[in-house]
Amino acid sequence: MRGKKILVTGGTGQVARPVAEALAADNEVWCLGRFGDPAARKALEEAGARTVIWDMSTDDLEDLPRDFTHVLHSAVHRGDGKDFDRTARVNAVGTARLMTHCCAAEAFLYVSSGVVYNRADRMHRYREDDPLGGAAPWLPTYPVAKLSAEGVVRGLAEALSLPAVIARLNIAYGPYGHGGVPMILFNQMHRGQACSVPRGGQNYCNLLHTDDVVRQVPLLWAAAQAPARVVNWGGDEEVGMTDLLEHMSALTGVPLRLDRGDYSRETAVFDHDVRRGLIGDCSVGWRAGIARTLAELFEEYRDRIDAYAAAHAAE
Ligand code: NDP
Repeated sequence: MRGKKILVTGGTGQVARPVAEALAADNEVWCLGRFGDPAARKALEEAGARTVIWDMSTDDLEDLPRDFTHVLHSAVHRGDGKDFDRTARVNAVGTARLMTHCCAAEAFLYVSSGVVYNRADRMHRYREDDPLGGAAPWLPTYPVAKLSAEGVVRGLAEALSLPAVIARLNIAYGPYGHGGVPMILFNQMHRGQACSVPRGGQNYCNLLHTDDVVRQVPLLWAAAQAPARVVNWGGDEEVGMTDLLEHMSALTGVPLRLDRGDYSRETAVFDHDVRRGLIGDCSVGWRAGIARTLAELFEEYRDRIDAYAAAHAAE
């Protein structure tokens, strides 16, 4: 993608930062956010992106140009688990401000989440038209944040004839920000804490490396339409969360303690038909992607991970 004028929210985050940095090489990229992390802001600017302070809970966009061709809306106010009213308002109003301001754009991409599905069955492959109304015991406001914003995207895509895509992301990971759920879990292992897993069986997800996120964002923009298109966005493979923890332990030698109980942070697997039809397959396999991410984020394990990769190269 070249020569476009692109607006990115959530540019300091794990998902959108690598996209903004990559696109800034050949496009005019503007990133909006509060920039509580000055290092992330500096890295974005060094990559060639402009940064503008914008708090979506309070600020309008009056002083911003209107001629953006593409919008990636990745910012989220997840809430504190109790502030349902505020969470719904912040995400809905922020999304509405962006869409009305950029109503002439070629494409608007909203990064949603699989948390919106009513996830009753661990092994079900969720389709885009499956029942909504997900619960998230670990952060009850989060599904409200995503569903409120999805509603705005659907409404304004049609009302403004603004081509839009709602991409329901599974679990993204890679060497940016907090590194994604796999790296959060590895940090837990690193601190000697047990990882919660189900009493029987394991949870499954579709891990998506940020290299694929970067490559697929322009493809998703190309699929935008009004009414908004909804697409599940995850990696091709179904990854057991316990298998993931064991793989990270084998790669690094960090011992794994499992806490088999009634509570574990549930995940979900997607049906990929819509995504495959629109943007094709992913390119990063989860075992290699996790090894690379750990080596990038935890330098002390690099030699061991390289040795493991060499020993298992033929598998
Ligand atoms: P992060 O937690 O890493 O980043 C959140 C981003 O939101 C930050 O860039 C932050 O910017 C911005 N933000 C938060 N509040 C505000 C605000 N009031 N005003 C402006 N910006 C704000 O998120 P991720 O990168 O992990 O997630 C990106 C998107 O993907 C989110 O919409 C999330 O729901 C979705 N998603 C992510 C998944 C994942 O695996 N990571 C899985 C499924 C969905 P700043 O602090 O600078 O303001």
